[in-house]
Amino acid sequence: MAIRLANNCTNCVNFKDDNMCAQHHIPVSARHTCDSFTMRADIKNIMQCSTCSRYGKSDCTHPKQASPEMLCSDWAPEAVA
Ligand code: SF4
Ligand code: SF4
Repeated sequence: MAIRLANNCTNCVNFKDDNMCAQHHIPVSARHTCDSFTMRADIKNIMQCSTCSRYGKSDCTHPKQASPEMLCSDWAPEAVA
């Protein structure tokens, strides 16, 4: 099972520091999302094999193709303590 980053408001370019949506002008949280969701570039950029919890492990789905700057749909975030 692939575990991925959530497409929720806190990962969206329109989420502002005061927990407001810059597009809809309403308070939002990690519990919300909408059809205008756009992943923040800084989060997009961390999604590559070198930051995948499967990299170099038996559960990598493309072990022959995996390389630090590659990405596949089975990317999984590393555990954060
Ligand atoms: S409501 Fe939509 S546009 Fe606004 S922050 Fe959430 S996902 Fe982004
Ligand atoms: S190929 Fe896919 S599963 Fe393997 S390390 Fe890269 S992103 Fe992760």
